[in-house]
Amino acid sequence: MIFEQLFDSKSSTYTYIISSGKGREALIIDPVIENTNEYIKVLKNLDLQLVKVIDTHIHADHISGLNELSKRTSCSKIMGEKSGSEVLDIRVKDNEKIKIENIELISMYTPGHTDCSYSFLMKDRVFTGDTLLINATGRTDFQSGSSYDAYDSLFNKLLKLPQKTLVYPAHDYNGKKYSTIENEKNKNPRLQVSSAEEYAEIMDNLNLANPKMMDVAVPANIKGLTLNQLNK
Ligand code: FE
Repeated sequence: MIFEQLFDSKSSTYTYIISSGKGREALIIDPVIENTNEYIKVLKNLDLQLVKVIDTHIHADHISGLNELSKRTSCSKIMGEKSGSEVLDIRVKDNEKIKIENIELISMYTPGHTDCSYSFLMKDRVFTGDTLLINATGRTDFQSGSSYDAYDSLFNKLLKLPQKTLVYPAHDYNGKKYSTIENEKNKNPRLQVSSAEEYAEIMDNLNLANPKMMDVAVPANIKGLTLNQLNK
């Protein structure tokens, strides 16, 4: 399997390029628009044909490369059914299969950070977007977020996956690349709570500033901004 984890240092975003092997079909999760040329280079070097691009949710801290990649490669644009994006080809519901050659992902509806947040399970690993981060969890105070929905997504869905499942988040701000469900369950400080009310109490009192790019990124990601439009 080809599994490339690329990092955008400006927004601390992780982007994943996945394929069953050289010369085969590929998919990308959570691309950042400014890095499109880098992704195209990686795909070319590995002789990969990009067929699907997925965003885990409407990002507020960077502009997605979803539409730009699709313009360049004709790949299908996929998000969860509640996404506000106006440029999608496929909207998945909970527990749907997303297939490329020899690879299968299963969609998991995990709202809370936003109401359109999805995670994607691929055998021994899960792409958690901003629902579950390493030693943290995604904020729930904007974009129709809900601390109670987040609690349900975390405790009744993600933490119920097999304990050895690898966790690959959409961001990390401390240089960590992945974790496991077991680690997060036992060590993530946000998850050491005994009720949804206790979790909501933490999340509803974080008092975080809005992301710097929020006013630009959210509308851009709804419209599906391309590089040409960005550089105008
Ligand atoms: Fe986010």
